[in-house]
Amino acid sequence: DIMGSTLFNLLAEAQEKYPDKAAIAQVERKVRLTYRELYERVIRFAEGCTKLGLQKGDKIIACLPNWPEYVITLYAAARAGFVLVPVNPRFKRNEIEFILRSSGARAAITAVETDFARYQVFQDCQKGIPSLEHIICVSPMGLVDHNLLSFEDVIVLGMHADPEEACNTSSSDVAAIVYTSGTTGIPKGAILSHKSLLFSSSAMNVALENSERDVVLVVVPVCHIFGLSLCIMSVATKSTFVLMERFSPETVFEVVEREKVTVHHGVSTMFVLELNHPNRSKYDLSSLRTGIVAATPCPYEIVERIRSELGLNPILSYGMTETSPSLTASHFENEAWVYTTVGRVLSGVSLRVVDEWGNMLPNGEVGELLCKTPGLMMGYYENEEATRRAIDQNGWFHTGDLARLNDDGYVTIVGRIKEMISRGGLKIYPKEVEELIYQHPAVQEAAVVGIPDPVLGERSCACITLKAGRSLTPNEIRLLCQEHLADYKVPDVIEIMDVLPLSGSGKIYKMELAKIMREKYPPVYHAK
Ligand code: ATP
Ligand code: MG
Repeated sequence: DIMGSTLFNLLAEAQEKYPDKAAIAQVERKVRLTYRELYERVIRFAEGCTKLGLQKGDKIIACLPNWPEYVITLYAAARAGFVLVPVNPRFKRNEIEFILRSSGARAAITAVETDFARYQVFQDCQKGIPSLEHIICVSPMGLVDHNLLSFEDVIVLGMHADPEEACNTSSSDVAAIVYTSGTTGIPKGAILSHKSLLFSSSAMNVALENSERDVVLVVVPVCHIFGLSLCIMSVATKSTFVLMERFSPETVFEVVEREKVTVHHGVSTMFVLELNHPNRSKYDLSSLRTGIVAATPCPYEIVERIRSELGLNPILSYGMTETSPSLTASHFENEAWVYTTVGRVLSGVSLRVVDEWGNMLPNGEVGELLCKTPGLMMGYYENEEATRRAIDQNGWFHTGDLARLNDDGYVTIVGRIKEMISRGGLKIYPKEVEELIYQHPAVQEAAVVGIPDPVLGERSCACITLKAGRSLTPNEIRLLCQEHLADYKVPDVIEIMDVLPLSGSGKIYKMELAKIMREKYPPVYHAK
C-alpha cells in the first residue's frame, strides 16, 4: 500500500534494491548520482539541517533549477519532516520576497551561479524577515565566499548521520507547500501530504506502465507540481531520471539519443518547438516510448503529431497543484477521439460537473468541474478564506475549470471559467477557437484572450506566432474562422506576434497577454 508509505521510504527502497544504479543524471552540470549516493546525501543533508536547528514542521524553501540538490532537499525534508516549499528560480525579487514572507520559512536554499545576485536578493530579504534564519547556497561554478553556508557544508555537518535512525515522518504528515502557477492571480500555497503526493504519482506510474527499465526526462521545472511529481514517480519506479535545467529542442534530442530516454514528459509548448525543429531527423529518438502531456491544454493537432512524428505514445493528464496534481489520465489508446479529451478519471477520484448555481449537470453538458480525490490538498497555507471558497462543505473542490464528462468517464476540458470571454453576453471558449487556428499549417502557437469593449463588454483577440520561415496574414485566419465558427466566435482582433509571454511553469501567460492587448487596443466607442 503505497499511500501508507512516505516519500523517504520510496528512496530507501530504491537504494536497497539498486544501490549502484544511476538515479540522477544532470545534463548541464554533467553530474551523475547513483541511488546509494543520492540516499547518503539525503541522510546527511537531513542531519546537517537538524544540526542547524531545523525541526519537524519547519518550512524549507528550495529555489533551485532542475539540479540534484533539489531532489536531495525533497527527500531530506521527507526524512526529517521539514516542509518543502519550492520556489521558481526565475522569480524576481518581489516574487521571492512574497513567498519568503508568506511561508514563514526558516531556511532557504538558493543557487549561486555566475554571480551572487540571487543570493543577495535572499540576504536583503532576510533583513526584514526574522523567521528566515539560514540561507544555504548551491554553487556549482565554485563561487565561494567564506561567509556563506554552502550546500556541501551542510552535508559535511551531517556526515555522521545514522542511516538506521528511524524516519521522522508518516504518510499523513505535510510534505510540501507548493504554490500554484499564478495564471489567474496571486499564487496560493497548497498544503500537500505525503499521502496525496503518493496517490497521484502511483496512479500515473500505472497509467504510463513505468518500470525500473525506464529512463525519464525531467525538463519541466521541478519547482512546479508537475516536475515535483516526476521526481517522486521516477524514484517510486527506481528509474534513472535525467534532470535538464534549460529547455531547448536540440538539447532534448541530443539527450534522448545519448541517454536512450524512454519517457519524455512535457507541456504543449515544448512539444510544439520540438515538432517544428528543422534538425529533428538528425537524431535517433527511437528509444522514446511515452510521456505525460499536461499542465495546459494541448491541441489535438499537436497530440497527433507527437504520436506520429515523435513516435511517443502520449498519456494526457489533467490536474492542478491543489490535487497533487493528477485527476485524469488517458491510457495507451487507439481511438483518435480520446486525444481530444484528457482521458478518464483516475480510480479513487470522483468528478462532477455543475452549473452556476451548483446543480449537477448530466453528462455531455458544460459546467464547472468539481472533484474529490485522495490527492486533495489540506488547504491553502494561511489563507482560510480562499480555502473555504475552494472546498465546499461537502468536501468538493472547485477547480475553476469548465469541463464536460461523457458516459464512459472521459473528461473534456473546455477552458478556465476566468478565461471565458463574454461577447455581448455570448460565451466564447478560447480553447475552441485556438484548436481551429492550430490547424493552419503556418501557425506555431495561438492564444485567444478577451479585451474590454464598451458596447459588447468584451471582444476577442487571437494572438498567433508562426513557424520559422512561414508567413500568414490576419485575413487568412479570419477566413478560416469564418468558415468553421459562428460569427460571434470569430476573433475581433487577430495579431501576429514574435513570441507569446510564458509563465514560470511554461504555460502561455494569458493574463499578461490580455494586458498587452488591452494596452494596444484600448476600448473605444464605435458608432453603429
Ligand atoms: P493559479 O491557480 O495560480 O491561477 P494555475 O491554475 O495555472 O495557476 P496550476 O496548478 O499549475 O496553476 O495549473 C492547474 C490548471 O492548469 C488547471 O486548473 C487547468 O486550468 C490547467 N490544466 C492542467 N492540465 C491541463 C490539461 N491537460 N488540459 C487543459 N488544462 C490543463
Ligand atoms: Mg489554479
